Amino acid sequence: NYHVVLAENRKLYNEVQDLKGNIRVYCRIRPFLPGQNQNHSTIEFAGEDGELIVSNPLKQGKDSRKLFKFNKVFGQAASQEEVFRDTQPLIRSVLDGYNVCIFAYGQTGAGKTYTMSGPSLSSKSDWGVNYRALHDLFHISHSRRNSIMYEIGVQMVEIYNEQQIKYCFLDLHTLGIWNTTQPNGLAVPDASMHSVNSMTDVLELMNIGMTNRATSATALNERSSRSHSVLSIHVRGTDLKTNTLLRGCLHLVDLAGSERVDRSEATGDRLKEAQHINKSLSALGDVIFALAQKSSHVPYRNSKLTQLLQSSLGGQAKTLMFVQLNPDVASYSETISTLKFAERVSGVELGAARSNKEGKDVRELMEQLSSLKDAITRKD
Ligand code: ADP
Ligand code: MG
Repeated sequence: NYHVVLAENRKLYNEVQDLKGNIRVYCRIRPFLPGQNQNHSTIEFAGEDGELIVSNPLKQGKDSRKLFKFNKVFGQAASQEEVFRDTQPLIRSVLDGYNVCIFAYGQTGAGKTYTMSGPSLSSKSDWGVNYRALHDLFHISHSRRNSIMYEIGVQMVEIYNEQQIKYCFLDLHTLGIWNTTQPNGLAVPDASMHSVNSMTDVLELMNIGMTNRATSATALNERSSRSHSVLSIHVRGTDLKTNTLLRGCLHLVDLAGSERVDRSEATGDRLKEAQHINKSLSALGDVIFALAQKSSHVPYRNSKLTQLLQSSLGGQAKTLMFVQLNPDVASYSETISTLKFAERVSGVELGAARSNKEGKDVRELMEQLSSLKDAITRKD
């Protein structure tokens, strides 16, 4: 029984988690869509405390069963509200001057955009992390207005083929333009930044941004899965008593689809896109891995995305990765490759040889974890 074995070892899991510092990895499984065969799910077990067991239902034999551990797993029934609740403390820390990056990673169709933006804007219950984050930041900043005066600015950037495209908010005159001459804290110093005071402002900006984007992209949906889309929320707070200034920023990143492209089939533009995506996603993985390992060298310069986010990745900054899974058996191999990425960024993979004490502890714990995996497999 997984529950018993896993409960016995919860302490061990928690120790592994504690060693990870400022990097959190959440897994979210999207529900089956109409027409998908629900009998063929690759998800065998999704535990509230972050355990995930996947297997290939079409392959007999238990060897293929794999156990993964996250800070949290959201099953198919999890609502936008629940997902946000566990993200909220991280988001609120931006108002205390922290920098935060939240990513959605996974193959196309696994629910990245659903988690970050939501399926529609019209109904609040559909809102994804980004609208909920803005709403919450307005709410909290308003409630603190007698002690801290906050200003909130947003911008939206897309990275396609290692090029940065600023498609949002460019021809907007009704709202104030954020002054970008800040010594630090600004990830995109040359992009126009817009002050927003309410969700009405935000939704107006989003509409303009989306329109700008739709007219600039020939095949919008086609491209959206192959570009990274970054919504950045910058916060400036002035303490009304001491007159001190604090800055924080939140980057919400809907990453390009992580699926591998068949090299024998892709040619021309498609191949070039795939190569750029591979390059930038692995550069992101390398950066987060280096941070999780507290490595002295963090390779930010290997992609546009990591350069853009450099000031908000590492140091005191906090990172959250949503690892999105499609439970369908047809996605099994992509699911495994997504989970391998997750394992890598959570910084506890076995191959990570490190001489310092922390690295060694993680290795020992991981060895115990793999004996646990064996024990679970034997029980069946
Ligand atoms: P991605 O951005 O990773 O390509 P999407 O977010 O567009 O994937 O999701 C693909 C499809 O699955 C969409 O139709 C979306 O509405 C649906 N979907 C994704 N996640 C969920 C969820 N948690 N609940 C209901 N439907 C979902
Ligand atoms: Mg998407």
